[in-house]
Amino acid sequence: MITKDVKKQLIQIVGPENFDDSNAGRLVYSYDATPQFQSMPDAVIAPRNTDEVSRILAICSEHQVPIVPRGSGTNLCGGTCPTEGGLVLLFKHMNRILEIDEENLTATVQPGVITLDMIRAVESKGLFYPPDPSSMKISTMGGNINENSGGLRGLKYGVTRDYVIGLEVVLANGDIIRTGGKLAKDVAGYDLTRLFVGSEGTLGIVTEAIVKLVPKPETKKTLLALYENIDAAAQTVSDIIAAKIIPATLEFLDQPTLLVIEDYARIGLPTNAKAVLLIEQDGPLEIVARDMEKIEAICKKGDAVSVQTAQTEEEAFALTEARRSALSALARLKPTTILEDATVPRSEIANMVKAINDIAAKYDISICTFGHAGDGNLHPTCTTDIRNEDEMERVEQAFAEIFEKAIELGGTITGEHGVGAMKAPYLEMKLEKEGIAAMKALKAAFDPRNILNPGKIFAKDARKRVVTER
Ligand SMILES: Cc1cc2nc3c(=O)[nH]c(=O)nc-3n(C[C@H](O)[C@H](O)[C@H](O)COP(=O)(O)OP(=O)(O)OC[C@H]3O[C@@H](n4cnc5c(N)ncnc54)[C@H](O)[C@@H]3O)c2cc1C
Repeated sequence: MITKDVKKQLIQIVGPENFDDSNAGRLVYSYDATPQFQSMPDAVIAPRNTDEVSRILAICSEHQVPIVPRGSGTNLCGGTCPTEGGLVLLFKHMNRILEIDEENLTATVQPGVITLDMIRAVESKGLFYPPDPSSMKISTMGGNINENSGGLRGLKYGVTRDYVIGLEVVLANGDIIRTGGKLAKDVAGYDLTRLFVGSEGTLGIVTEAIVKLVPKPETKKTLLALYENIDAAAQTVSDIIAAKIIPATLEFLDQPTLLVIEDYARIGLPTNAKAVLLIEQDGPLEIVARDMEKIEAICKKGDAVSVQTAQTEEEAFALTEARRSALSALARLKPTTILEDATVPRSEIANMVKAINDIAAKYDISICTFGHAGDGNLHPTCTTDIRNEDEMERVEQAFAEIFEKAIELGGTITGEHGVGAMKAPYLEMKLEKEGIAAMKALKAAFDPRNILNPGKIFAKDARKRVVTER
């Protein structure tokens, strides 16, 4: 609840134009990209700088007002749904690239910077920021950092965590701290930078970030390998890695996903294939040529019925863009799209894909699967209708079983989308009670009054694993 007095204090900080408690204003921020989650905030606030964020937090802490930091709201775990009301904190004024340092190979950004703007800005200087979530045209750096987002280039280059080397963070009580810096090495105390990355707005508010850049790869090549059988495609993923080749991108798409993407993008994807691998390598010309030759041979030996190499940059771009559009394409099929990101060791990809298909058949629901096969990170995606209660019940049971299977295969309940409110009931499956207790102790130390994105990560009721011994 925001009292009249608190409202007055908040408006004094940001000005009336940056505080909105109208019904219409609140409604816009009552949901995010996650289906099935909606809850009204008490107000929306848009600070202009770190000092204002600090003053807002001090007030919220004193009056125990929940704060939900929000980038573009594209998370898929209910992470920005204000499930306990309070203030939604926007970064629309804090959206500048502050510096690209070509000597130290770093960029310093505010949280509201759009990821693709950042990628383009550094590429114009011959530098490269690899994390490339498919949502990068709209997602923000603050959101990427707090979800530890990955992307198509994750296999070779890693995820957001591997590039964040320094942060400015406002703590729950309003204190401002700086972690890390433009440093290649820094072991002064605990690694708080890593702790905040992926913390989903529950430990502090990121107001500035220093990210590491690398030289832009000289060249890249893209190919599509087509398979008549999903197992052969999955085996090829393991074979490529076992041959000690790490492609920049190694994506898997099953036939239902291919059909939907082709209908959406119309670029001539091979819709008659049962599965496709989209493979990209980048780097110096001769190394790319050597790796792609080897990869092509491995695909053919692994029963690919055809291997097609993109002939031009435009063709390669169209292929990766089509893959990036998978969720948007699938979302056209039915009113509700539930995209998950169960992750397993790469060697278990074939088993996981098979299990997903069996589970979909068992519960009589439609699941398309695509994802970052090289990372073992699959996106089983169910197209359904939230109004069909019977089907929604089956969808929920099916996903619970998918998470169990992922854990049984040595995997996890989320590879890049975070826990938020959606996966909170499943976290104990992965961490056990003791793991949850350790994380709760950290949360209590950083946020003793539980004002930072409350109701996320930790569930009131955990879902138990149905199968405990296998
Ligand atoms: C079409 C589509 C494709 C996607 N593809 C990918 C993909 O390839 N890879 C991937 O990893 N994810 C993907 N996602 C998920 C999502 O885009 C990412 O999680 C992204 O990082 C969220 O960015 P955002 O700016 O929208 O953050 P939001 O959704 O607004 O916020 C995400 C989390 O960060 C917190 N937060 C935001 N800003 C701050 C801040 N400054 N300080 C503290 N906490 C903050 C929020 O409270 C929330 O918990 C996709 C989503 C969609 C809709």
